[in-house]
Amino acid sequence: MARSIYIFNTHDLPHRAGEMREYQLDLKIPEPVGVDLLSVKPGEVIEVDLRLQSVDEGVLATARVMATATGECTRCLKPITWPIDENFTELYYYELATGKRGSKSKSGKEEEIDLEEDDLRFMVGDDIDLEPAIRDAVILNLAVNPLCTEDCPGLEEKQGQSWAYLSAEQEQTPADQRWAALKDFPLKN
Ligand SMILES: [Zn+2]
Repeated sequence: MARSIYIFNTHDLPHRAGEMREYQLDLKIPEPVGVDLLSVKPGEVIEVDLRLQSVDEGVLATARVMATATGECTRCLKPITWPIDENFTELYYYELATGKRGSKSKSGKEEEIDLEEDDLRFMVGDDIDLEPAIRDAVILNLAVNPLCTEDCPGLEEKQGQSWAYLSAEQEQTPADQRWAALKDFPLKN
């Protein structure tokens, strides 16, 4: 499996509390990041200004995440672009600090501990996985109901026209899904 673009190797950062490094990352994303209505599309770049600090427990990442999401206005369906600019802070614990991660037993006790650990992020060797933090930051910055403008009039203004168009379209759409699939097929003759 290819290495995730979100995994960042921190080998430049000495594991001594107080050490700090800054990086600028341009992550060309392979999968959409966001929600159904509004997302940063595959192939787009998410810029991350990343600051890593060594602390006693691990590596503290502070980042600014910048990108442009695209989608549709939820009222009028016009395409919209949505600038994203969000910060996050995430602490990645050293693997050693967790004790026996490599030798999990199947007893109930151990599983309880694992559940608590779900909220914590751990380093794998020198690697930190920035994906959950970046995804959260992007989603946090998106509107639940994105609009092209705050006072978008929606479709109501041209309601007569739109409904006429819709019903004509519906009449032409065969009920059978197999024929529906052919609807978009280019017919040259
Ligand atoms: Zn709109």
